[in-house]
Amino acid sequence: MNNANEPVLSAAHVAKAYRDGAAAVPVLKDVNLAVMPGETVAILGASGSGKSTLLHILGGLDALDAGEVSIAGEKLSGLSESERGRLRNRRLGFVYQFHHLLPEFTALDNAAMPLFIRRMNRTEARAKARASLEAVGLGHRLDHLPSQLSGGERQRVAIARALITEPACILADEPTGNLDEETAEQVFESLLKLAHEKGAAIVIVTHDRDLARLCDRVVKLADGAIEPVEKKF
Ligand code: ADP
Ligand code: MG
Repeated sequence: MNNANEPVLSAAHVAKAYRDGAAAVPVLKDVNLAVMPGETVAILGASGSGKSTLLHILGGLDALDAGEVSIAGEKLSGLSESERGRLRNRRLGFVYQFHHLLPEFTALDNAAMPLFIRRMNRTEARAKARASLEAVGLGHRLDHLPSQLSGGERQRVAIARALITEPACILADEPTGNLDEETAEQVFESLLKLAHEKGAAIVIVTHDRDLARLCDRVVKLADGAIEPVEKKF
């Protein structure tokens, strides 16, 4: 299943429309994208172009009208809801614009939470979380609560949490969208660094063309389809 020549994530002819009363409003018309193991892909696109919709569909969190999504070579359409959930939990990690950390838990336990949920021994889970937090520059904030962290630090905890299960691919929806320019760059670089260390691929939605350029490949979602973007824009 972890074939180096096989995409970790792929979309073929994906279409999705939302209903507005009787009318169908097409958002995705014919999306084709293949993400190879360890590859980092940035998705640009105007507000409302369907970037979040696409990420949800790629993550198996939303239904599509036509086309096919495969995770690690498995077609989602052939799976039951619970099988899809298992595949998602094993293979994917998610980072959002808002960190979604649990306020009553420390940075260390927030990062370790996916392993706690898998019933990993707590000492072992915390050791892994500590290593991930150190890798994103938060070794000195392990015992802080989210309310005691800056916005950039919270996002770095969310990044450590997303990568703690060693997913094949991370889906990140504007993970630096709420941060000032300098912090955004640091957080973006933390995400690329930790993903690289863990061998994870990334699909990252961003408005920031300079940050997008740090990825292996840049594409744009426009008029319901993915088009390549020259990196020297
Ligand atoms: P982006 O993330 O690129 O800003 P979205 O994927 O959030 O775009 O939304 C794309 C379009 O689909 C927008 O016009 C939005 O209003 C519409 N849309 C998104 N989610 C829903 C929904 N649940 N129901 C109806 N329309 C939606
Ligand atoms: Mg969005």
